[in-house]
Amino acid sequence: MTNIVLNEKACAEYALENLILGSKPTETLGRVARYYYSIGYKKKEIGSLLEDFMLKCDPTINIVKWQGVIDKLANMSDKYALFDIAGISITQSEMEKIQAIEGKMLQRLMFTMLCLAKYGNEISPTNNNWVNKKDKDIFTLSNITATLKRQSLMINDLWTLGYVGYSRVVDNINLNVKIVDNDSPEVLFVSDFRNLGNQYMRYCGEKFIECQSCGKVVRQNKNVQKYCTECATEINRQKTLEK
Ligand SMILES: [Zn+2]
Repeated sequence: MTNIVLNEKACAEYALENLILGSKPTETLGRVARYYYSIGYKKKEIGSLLEDFMLKCDPTINIVKWQGVIDKLANMSDKYALFDIAGISITQSEMEKIQAIEGKMLQRLMFTMLCLAKYGNEISPTNNNWVNKKDKDIFTLSNITATLKRQSLMINDLWTLGYVGYSRVVDNINLNVKIVDNDSPEVLFVSDFRNLGNQYMRYCGEKFIECQSCGKVVRQNKNVQKYCTECATEINRQKTLEK
C-alpha cells in the first residue's frame, strides 16, 4: 500500500487506538515512538510502551526478534518532531512545464513525482527535491499500469527532457525533480496523495469525480456518479442489509 501521511500525530493516535501495526510496522513504530516522546515520555519508558503496543496488535509476535528495532526507535524518538502538513502547492511554472510534455501518461507521471518531491521538501527541509519512493509506488500513485520495462522507459524519457535526475550514489535509486519552482503563483493545492494521476487528469478537465464518501478522485464512468467503486459497493451492501 502506498500511503502518504500528512498528519503524523493523527496517524500515531489512530494506530494506538485501533491497535494497527500496518503493512510497514517499523514506520508505524517509529511514529508511535515519536508520538510518545512528544507527549512527555522518557526514552526508557518508550521502549516498553512500544513492546506493549506491538503485543496488543499481535499477541503472537516474537518480541525478542524486534528488540533491536524497538531500542533503536525509542532511542531516536527525540530526533524528529511529528509533522503535520496541509498539503503542497503546485505552481503555474511547474504546471506549464508538465503540460509541455508530450502524452498525458508521461505528464501524469511527472506530476506525481513533482508532488512527491514537494512533499519530501515539506517534511524535511534538507530534502532538496528528492523523491524517496520506489518506482512501483510512484506508478501506483500516478494511476499508471505499465510493465517494468515500460516504467523505466518512461522515467528515462523524463530524464532525457532534463526533468528528473538520478543520484550519483551507485546503489541509490532515488530521483531528483528538476522542475520545482516555488516563486511562481499557485495553481493547484494537493491535500490528498491518493490517486495523484487522477487528480492531474481532473485538473486537465477530464471526467473525474471526487467520491462523496471517501474523497478519492476516480474516473467518472456514469453520468450521475457520486461514489468510487469500493464505496458504492459498501453503500449498496448496507442498503441491502437494511432491507
Ligand atoms: Zn470512495
